[in-house]
Amino acid sequence: MNIVETRNLSKYYTFDSGLRVEALRGINVKIEEGDFVSFMGPSGSGKSTLLNIVGCLDQPTSGDVFIEGNEVDYRNSSSLVRLHRQTIGFVFQAFNLISTMNAMENVCYPLYFSGVSRSRQKQRATELLGLVGLGDRMHHLPSELSGGEQQRVAVARALANSPKLILADEPTGNLDSDTGNKITDLMRKINREQGVSFLVTTHDPEMARIADRVIRLKDGKITV
Ligand code: ADP
Ligand code: ADP
Repeated sequence: MNIVETRNLSKYYTFDSGLRVEALRGINVKIEEGDFVSFMGPSGSGKSTLLNIVGCLDQPTSGDVFIEGNEVDYRNSSSLVRLHRQTIGFVFQAFNLISTMNAMENVCYPLYFSGVSRSRQKQRATELLGLVGLGDRMHHLPSELSGGEQQRVAVARALANSPKLILADEPTGNLDSDTGNKITDLMRKINREQGVSFLVTTHDPEMARIADRVIRLKDGKITV
């Protein structure tokens, strides 16, 4: 079963001046459930645009996206909310934690929006922070954590609602290479042990090395 499929996906940006940028030009990919896939390519090749469209944060100009075999309806906001709550987790380059919330509260946050009881939120967050190696940092604010620790919190948060798919945009881009490699290993471990699929945009050779598949983009097209 394909967790993600895109058919002839294109994204154009048009400006008032009449200029047009073709960020994606006819992308066809099939990602098998359980796969760890890296998207590589030069800056501006369309990696983030592709991830944002698959993650339903942005709409394509034309073409279709299927998640677990179901066509995404980008005009149906309740179905997008359901995908974000139940199916897709996100990890970002800049961690994007809420600065006034400690690690535990950051991981509880998506559970709160899913209507999970406070006691169950805490139980789940404790379990996830343990999984990412932060059992002793649960009450620290993001400002009291290192970059690598903040990204671990972000990984735990992405896992909160037990997604099938995690989308990560340059997750090691703000980390030194040793710390980045530890985050890469953590994501690979979660992929192997929990069967969560990963789509990761990256310039990081280690991330590409451990991936099941590397998909290369150039000028909005797949080259390999
Ligand atoms: P990458 O992630 O590979 O660096 P992006 O997906 O960010 O590439 O960008 C692909 C192309 O689309 C680039 O030419 C970029 O300038 C353009 N682009 C991306 N987002 C926007 C936007 N919101 N408005 C206009 N152009 C954009
Ligand atoms: P119940 O146990 O009845 O399901 P909850 O324990 O989920 O209720 O919530 C109790 C109160 O705490 C509610 O007012 C809820 O809005 C608030 N609350 C629960 N979780 C959070 C959270 N992560 N952040 C902020 N407020 C929360």
